Amino acid sequence: IWLGGYLKLNGLLTLSVFAVLAGCLLGFMLRGSHLSTQAKIYFSFPGELLMRMLKMLILPLITSSLMSGLSSMESKACCRVGVLTVTYYLWTTFIAVVVGILLVIIIKPGVGTEMDNKPETKSKHLVRILKVPRVTVQPNFVYIMPIDSGPTGWTVFLELTPPPEIHYKTRAGSSQQMNVLGIVIFSATMGLLLGKIGERGAPLVNLCQCVNECVMKIINTAVWYFPFGIIFLVAGKILDMQDPSTLGKKLGWYTITVLAGLFVHGLILLPFFYLILTRKNPFTYIRGLLQALVIALATSSSSATLPITMKCLLENCNVDRQIARFVLPVGATINMDGTALDEAMAAIFIAQVNDYELDFGQLVTISITATAASIGAAGIPQAGLVTMVIVLTSVGLPPDDITLIVTIDWVLDRFRTMINVLGDALAAGIIGHLCRKDFPRRPTGKNSHNMQN
Ligand code: ASP
Repeated sequence: IWLGGYLKLNGLLTLSVFAVLAGCLLGFMLRGSHLSTQAKIYFSFPGELLMRMLKMLILPLITSSLMSGLSSMESKACCRVGVLTVTYYLWTTFIAVVVGILLVIIIKPGVGTEMDNKPETKSKHLVRILKVPRVTVQPNFVYIMPIDSGPTGWTVFLELTPPPEIHYKTRAGSSQQMNVLGIVIFSATMGLLLGKIGERGAPLVNLCQCVNECVMKIINTAVWYFPFGIIFLVAGKILDMQDPSTLGKKLGWYTITVLAGLFVHGLILLPFFYLILTRKNPFTYIRGLLQALVIALATSSSSATLPITMKCLLENCNVDRQIARFVLPVGATINMDGTALDEAMAAIFIAQVNDYELDFGQLVTISITATAASIGAAGIPQAGLVTMVIVLTSVGLPPDDITLIVTIDWVLDRFRTMINVLGDALAAGIIGHLCRKDFPRRPTGKNSHNMQN
């Protein structure tokens, strides 16, 4: 009876956790079987389908959430929530960077004589002025362009108002990506204006509320496919993984240090802030988020996890609908504590491997650029690895030394994505509590979708 009751309440979560374990098992079992490329493509199909389902929901969810959420807020409340959200996000990202820097300085994973995984093409000596490709931070993604072409750093401001689909160039060629920050800015502006024009805006507000409700209904159905997709997503990644025995001691220590940093930040500091600011038990709150955390672990993408995070907050964590609709999309776009922590650690680790002493000024530079680079990183798999180039070049470290950590980054990415998602969700709980007077308590829970729009 007890088991039946438990499965009824936590069935999906239990299935998802089993799916992660089954995916690991399947991946390791098939590693020796040397599947052909064609077979691997078929094998990764269910996982790819899961990723696409989640990505499909990002655009309608963000636009409808922000537009309907902001249009129904009083301008004073809007201002308060906006300022609190951005301040809290910047503060926690900076704290994450400081935690990362302290741990990597104390544990020193890169210090020692062994130079495992050092790319042979690179000089051991660091040069302050490097001929590196010009890197330009774009909102939520990065241009890496040849030295003599491409936009300047100021385009970051221009890209705040772009069309949602943008072509950009990487060394590998031209690509296309959704500019989530652009979408957030546009939708938030529309939401604010819709609130101002009153009755005339009502049809559009209603439309947004309908879209939002439908997206949530799609999520509620699609989640039952997720455990199946997760098995193949995880197994596919393990199939492609490099042999872990080649990682070497330093990289092993680096991995432990990053995981320790993520643990301290995500499971000690963030819950502590939640406890201090809300006087509620943070772990009860986090228990409601487990489904989202498992999806973050499986997909390595905080944007793709956004629909599930939203579902968890509304159904399990009792967060006000309007708050969740604003704080989560903004957080999934600019708040990446795990990424910031990892980027700062990686830069110092690379300096340690190169026997390069960083002075205090350089540590400050790393903390500022890692915060900025995490804001610029997209909520997609391994985006942090790309923006890491900015942190390295800011203190004169060779960007090519990113190859030192590439082998392990896909694993760390999964854990830092969990912390990114956790940070956004805890922020929604905190902001909701701090602004509770602006948003009087209304019923939430599984059956309250219709009532709260
Ligand atoms: N994968 C991370 C996310 O989606 C970004 C990163 O750190 O690479 O949040």
